Amino acid sequence: MTARGRGAVPRRVASRKGVMAEAAAPRAEVIAACRALTRFGLAHGTSGNVSVRLDERRFLISPTGVAYDSLRPGDIPLVSLAGRWFGRLPPSSEWRFHRDIYGARPEVGAIVHTHSRQATALACTGRGIPAFHYMVAAAGGADIRCAPYHTFGTQALSDAAVTALKDRSACLLANHGVIAVGRDARAALKLAGEVENLAVQYCAALALGGVRLLDEAEMSRVLEKFRTYGTLEAADPELEFGGARLARAAKASR
Ligand SMILES: [Zn+2]
Repeated sequence: MTARGRGAVPRRVASRKGVMAEAAAPRAEVIAACRALTRFGLAHGTSGNVSVRLDERRFLISPTGVAYDSLRPGDIPLVSLAGRWFGRLPPSSEWRFHRDIYGARPEVGAIVHTHSRQATALACTGRGIPAFHYMVAAAGGADIRCAPYHTFGTQALSDAAVTALKDRSACLLANHGVIAVGRDARAALKLAGEVENLAVQYCAALALGGVRLLDEAEMSRVLEKFRTYGTLEAADPELEFGGARLARAAKASR
């Protein structure tokens, strides 16, 4: 289902100054993530965009056509799920799928969209990324789907993206690029980088031929391990905790 927020009344914004003061940290988060896109080689020029959720009805998104280097906090427009925007620069032309993902996925706190090189090349063949490597599970399932092509900025593209993202944190967009979502910009950015890395590996494996896919049972095991990764629940029974202090632990192990 695509939540378009139609009929929702956007929260009244008292003044632009009020909005600016309220959202200083998430504006900085949008700008930092935009710059990281370039630094990580995931964006070229002004391609791609980043948004951060403010609350259940509003988000901040990178503006259209502004070089990431010159972005300042006041350049970041605020958009309501009802489709109203506030600020001095208009939002990215892809604001629709950002709005619809926030509407459909309450757990999503940030969205990164890229035209990263290899993932986009793969998407230009209409292919998603199957379970060729266990890290595919980083996007939440046994594959990373590729949404069918629709013109950029359209409702049709947005609907296709929301469908391809069902139970996933990332998808490809045919003949276009990548969407990665996360609880915050850092998580979404990390996943966008992982999708690009997987696309590089998958294309290399395709070129070699004879790609072997992991089966459903193995991907379920990996997904379960990812769910508990880094928690006590995931503790390896053959690895015993020896204490928090390294010196003492080293002495004890002698
Ligand atoms: Zn795009």
